[in-house]
Amino acid sequence: MKIYKLSLIAIIILGTIFIGMSNPMKALYKNSASIITGLNIDTKDDKNNGKDEKDSKLDEKKEKYLICIDPGHQSKGDWKTEQVAPGSPYQKARVSSGTVGISTKKPEYILNLEASKVLKHILVSKGFEVVMTRESNDVNISNLERATFANEKNANMVIRIHADGSDDTSITGSSILIPSQKGQYTAPIFEASYECANLVKSKMDESGIKVNGIFERDDLTGFNWSKVPVVLVEMGFMSNYNEDQMMSNPDYQRKMMQSIADGVEEYFQVK
Ligand SMILES: [Zn+2]
Repeated sequence: MKIYKLSLIAIIILGTIFIGMSNPMKALYKNSASIITGLNIDTKDDKNNGKDEKDSKLDEKKEKYLICIDPGHQSKGDWKTEQVAPGSPYQKARVSSGTVGISTKKPEYILNLEASKVLKHILVSKGFEVVMTRESNDVNISNLERATFANEKNANMVIRIHADGSDDTSITGSSILIPSQKGQYTAPIFEASYECANLVKSKMDESGIKVNGIFERDDLTGFNWSKVPVVLVEMGFMSNYNEDQMMSNPDYQRKMMQSIADGVEEYFQVK
């Protein structure tokens, strides 16, 4: 009876593989996996016979990567303090409410969440797993807690979304911040963060987005407590009339988030 059942399963598997499948080995893998695990395996690339083997391998690999998005700030700052780094005598406010748009009057925390949701959507559509430190504005999560959250999730990369402000309203451009190479707490996560930041910068450059550069920081609580690589994107200056409006423009927002997602994707493809 057992042998009969096994032969039947074998016949079904072989039948499925060789009827109408362009790639028997890949199909064998997929069909065996779905029988063994009972999982609903996505067969969309079976329909796309032109898609090459290399692409589909990358897709399978990518699905294992977890990206944590941290939309900066929240509706009310919390001025109680927390340690800026593990064991450090220095304290900083748990979390501030950020800057405000000079033209839009939009608070930074609202813009950050708006853009982060677009980024999440793009990353998910690329096949990444995504978690967010917050999905509403009315929360109280300190920078230390945000870093701990990503550590506990063991995120492969953290993307922090912020916008800048300056007293000089003529200053424009986005900036990419990464943990310092020489920082006591940040050194172990420098390299991966830097590599990812570099790719994000190239994609932003290609899209025509002004990037002022990649800057190392050893004074940010969110970097010092992080055990996983992290890139912080300051999207632009809310203190500049034009850039403030651009950042709230859905097309510009989408273009910027697409560049970030493309950079992240390339980082995991070349890794
Ligand atoms: Zn900010």
